[in-house]
Amino acid sequence: MRLLLVEDETDLADWLKRALSQSGFVLDHAADARAARVLTSTSSYDAVVLDLGLPDTHGLIWLRDLRAEGNSTPVLILTAQGALEDRVRGLSIGADDYLTKPFALAELEARLTALGRRARTTRDAVIEFGALTFDSDTRTFMLGGSMLNLTPRERAALSALILRRGQPLLKSALAQKVFNLESDAGPDAIEVVVHRLRKKLVGAGVRISTVRGLGYMLERDVPGRKA
Ligand code: CA
Repeated sequence: MRLLLVEDETDLADWLKRALSQSGFVLDHAADARAARVLTSTSSYDAVVLDLGLPDTHGLIWLRDLRAEGNSTPVLILTAQGALEDRVRGLSIGADDYLTKPFALAELEARLTALGRRARTTRDAVIEFGALTFDSDTRTFMLGGSMLNLTPRERAALSALILRRGQPLLKSALAQKVFNLESDAGPDAIEVVVHRLRKKLVGAGVRISTVRGLGYMLERDVPGRKA
């Protein structure tokens, strides 16, 4: 899942960036409402984690403007202890969930995963493709009865590909799912991730094809055909 964290507390933001990327989330960070606005207008996210106490604008005003623009990205608001009014207003303005500071990382991850699942209501939670099984709730892949061992970037790439299985995904769109904006990854870094994934998918009955001009596509393996 690709996330936008809008949070001005540097320590909290740094901790979340480290912890969530370890868990396979791809995270961009904005320290104020203005930066968040630039990011939501230029990138698409699976969810936003929004602190309400921002230095330039109240988080709820930012959220109201986001919804007024027709942006329906799921938003989880972070509220202070006891701020009942913020929670009620937030939910009525269009927040999808809230969490009270301080919170446990496991709870944030569980709520974000639930938001991602709600956003995909029409999709299956478990996808079987070739010999590969993807559980979108736990974001894990199984191959032939055992867990496929993937790095966070490989997992992000393969998740994006399996959700669009059978259809090409632009190289730039795939890179956006894998690298955050601060990443110093060059334009070809995604090729390295795909190269490693291809090796791990040997025997999975699926493969990542290169579709000239259109990017990559996860498709069923046809024996005897070359990638
Ligand atoms: Ca704050």
